[in-house]
Amino acid sequence: MEERKQETAAAPARVVFLDRDGTMNEEVHYLYRPEDLRLIPGTAEAVRLLNGAGYRVIVVTNQAGVARGYYGEEEVRRLHAYLNGVLGREGAHVDAFYYCPHHPQYGIGPYKKECRCRKPGTGMLEAAERDLPGGIDRAASFLIGDKLADVEAGKRFGVTGILVGTGYGETERRAAEALSGAGALPYDYYAPDLLEAAKAILDGRAGQRAGGNGSGREPRK
Ligand SMILES: [Zn+2]
Repeated sequence: MEERKQETAAAPARVVFLDRDGTMNEEVHYLYRPEDLRLIPGTAEAVRLLNGAGYRVIVVTNQAGVARGYYGEEEVRRLHAYLNGVLGREGAHVDAFYYCPHHPQYGIGPYKKECRCRKPGTGMLEAAERDLPGGIDRAASFLIGDKLADVEAGKRFGVTGILVGTGYGETERRAAEALSGAGALPYDYYAPDLLEAAKAILDGRAGQRAGGNGSGREPRK
């Protein structure tokens, strides 16, 4: 066991990055109060399945409400602790949370910033990678979100991008389909919700590029 531990200590992590609002919990305008948190049905099960399959589950969330002064970073951290408590009661956990408190136009003071962390920027994913001793196995990792900006961040970073139909997802999907015509869609896979996305990851439908056809693309649906 000791030897095995050493051997795997620096192995790159398989990660599932999760958007928060509209993906894990019901979209609430500038959510920060724990009592307003409503998990989308199946969220705890989805996270538990991913935990059990050995994925690191990492939340990456744009929190422009901080930039706008609607709530502080302390409230964001408190909500994340609360969310992990709720998940914990169902045997699930998020391994790490990253948030972007900036906004390029509406930020107040130091929060008004053209940052690299606001999705579709990849700064939060890069920070997560720095915090993982063995880095990230991008070919075996995913990002799940309800906005094309989420998917774009994931794809820029080099992981498989999954759009879910909760939150803004259904609207985003229709817009993307209308724009793309017969061409390539901006996401690699579409699932109606987080639980279905997790199941698609686990059974290989959402694309597992390691050892796959190397194209990095899996047809939608
Ligand atoms: Zn930022």
